[in-house]
Formats: sequence, structure tokens, C-alpha cells
Amino acid sequence: MCARCGTRANAPQPTWTCSVENGTRHYICDTCSRKNLRAIEGRLDSAWW
Ligand SMILES: [Zn+2]
Repeated sequence: MCARCGTRANAPQPTWTCSVENGTRHYICDTCSRKNLRAIEGRLDSAWW
């Protein structure tokens, strides 16, 4: 199940992003990971400059 949008999957998809926070695994679907990646890049950009 996607940690961001709640999309369900029978099993974690190989294309999904897995992140571990506080010992708990969170899976993020393709759509959300792309959005998340942009957000991270945005933060990096602002931090970088
Ligand atoms: Zn999602």
C-alpha cells in the first residue's frame, strides 16, 4: 500500500520506492515517487544555492 496516496497492491511492486523510517517500511508508488523526487530536487536546488 502506498504511504502517500493509499494505492493498494497485493505485494510491493518492484518499481515502487521503499523507504525505512523509524524501523517501519514505507512503500511509495511510481506516481508519488515521481512527485516526491521533484520535491526532493526542489529542496536540493533551494539548499544548493
Ligand atoms: Zn502513491
